[in-house]
Amino acid sequence: MPRNAAAALRRYTARMPAHSDTPIEELPPTLGRLRDAWRARKPDRTQRGDDLARLRAALRSRLDEMAAAIAADFGHRSVHESLVADGLTVLSEIDHLRANLRRWAKPRRVGAGWRLWPARAEVRMEPVGVVGVISPWNYPVNLALIPLATAIAAGNHVYLKPSELTPRTAEFLRALLAEVFPPGRVAVALGGSDTGAAFAALPFDHLVFTGSTAVGRKVMAAAAANLTPLTLELGGKSPAIVCADFPLEQAAARLATGKWFNGGQTCIAPDYVLVDAARRDALVEALRREVRARYAGDGAASDYTRIINSAHAARLQGYLDDAARRGLTTVALAELDGDRLLAPTVVLDPPDDAALMQEEIFGPILPVLGYATLDEAIAFVAARDRPLALYPFSRDRRCVERILDGVLAGGVTVNDTLLHFGANALPFGGIGASGMGAYHGRAGFDAMSKALPILWQRRLAASDLLKPPYARIDRIVRWLVR
Ligand code: NAD
Repeated sequence: MPRNAAAALRRYTARMPAHSDTPIEELPPTLGRLRDAWRARKPDRTQRGDDLARLRAALRSRLDEMAAAIAADFGHRSVHESLVADGLTVLSEIDHLRANLRRWAKPRRVGAGWRLWPARAEVRMEPVGVVGVISPWNYPVNLALIPLATAIAAGNHVYLKPSELTPRTAEFLRALLAEVFPPGRVAVALGGSDTGAAFAALPFDHLVFTGSTAVGRKVMAAAAANLTPLTLELGGKSPAIVCADFPLEQAAARLATGKWFNGGQTCIAPDYVLVDAARRDALVEALRREVRARYAGDGAASDYTRIINSAHAARLQGYLDDAARRGLTTVALAELDGDRLLAPTVVLDPPDDAALMQEEIFGPILPVLGYATLDEAIAFVAARDRPLALYPFSRDRRCVERILDGVLAGGVTVNDTLLHFGANALPFGGIGASGMGAYHGRAGFDAMSKALPILWQRRLAASDLLKPPYARIDRIVRWLVR
């Protein structure tokens, strides 16, 4: 680890952040302050570009500190995984926003239609006002700053509430944002579920919530009182389907990355794998080889991420205990030992009612289920909630298309895992229980803007004739309604 990174880590592990929770009564006046400042001076395109550039530079210069804060919150988290998942993702999204901002923000001329001739029509992408962002702990910088940067690109002010389970990272974000933005443009509220509930009840102009489906339901109910438009980025069980033609070694390598990156604490991690039954055990062996190669020796100490807290570690252990009670075959793919450290583990063919098939796993346990036919595998997935992500593995385009035809998911990576999240031009979001709406790139810019339709009438207009007594214009009306 570089020396400055080690020093930053010592700083974060040595002390808890000095902040305390934001008093709930401070939330409405802070929103009022953000809204007043926005009304007084809506950020123009130059301002937005400058804001994004300063945010990028500030994050770029504090990446080591960021990784240290996250590692301290997790107990341990791979610095490299933090740099990729919380650094690179945000920097590349900001680059994408900056490169496209002018084009997306430009008013668009559209045809008014010959019936309204000679009027002109245009669509303007107007900022909506103040966007609220509620973010989770698993990628605590990425999932806070990408929505925030998108809202800024669209010309809004932002009120952010990061997760209480990553308090050092929340403090890092608070300090970073206070350095980059004036207090009337971006504010941060710190606190747990009570703060979150009060926050979701504020009359935002748009609210982006990233978190669990259960809390997402509460957020939607709270937002309903104000008719606050929502983007809900939720969770669920994202399947991988390995077709019989796909090479197992490559499937295992890519599944291992998707599943054991961040200790499996990834919303779009493959939650379970369906593989042709004849190759089930061979897949498990290939996964074991992958895990050994990745985390052998000291590898686990630096590169394998811990479970976020003891409650989540106990929840995951509960899945394994339930599997053991049922007599299911459980295979630990490596011998790893430590506090809140759960080895990559496979559970073979769990039945539907096993605890780990009932809930999103969100940890390093991977159910591997054998299927007899591809249609059976597709039907298995289609009978459940629509997943946030879907991973078909096949070199045969027809097999992939059959899967895509049978299952509608939030997003798809074919023959790999996770990577659709990183393609800035692809809208990212769930469907059904895995969420609603989308962000990243233009999808986020549009979601946090009002597409304002404007019809410009001319001095002389044919529509002036459209008035009673209608008998006089009967022929014209019949000509229009043809
Ligand atoms: P969570 O739902 O417990 O918490 C998310 C945020 O909501 C936190 O900031 C929390 O303080 C806040 N909160 C808690 N109660 C609230 C309430 N009543 N009203 C408003 N806010 C409230 O989720 P988590 O444990 O932090 O994150 C894990 C979950 O998030 C998983 O289900 C995962 O799949 C999902 N997730 C989804 C995405 C995505 O992009 N779709 C990304 C990451 C995580």
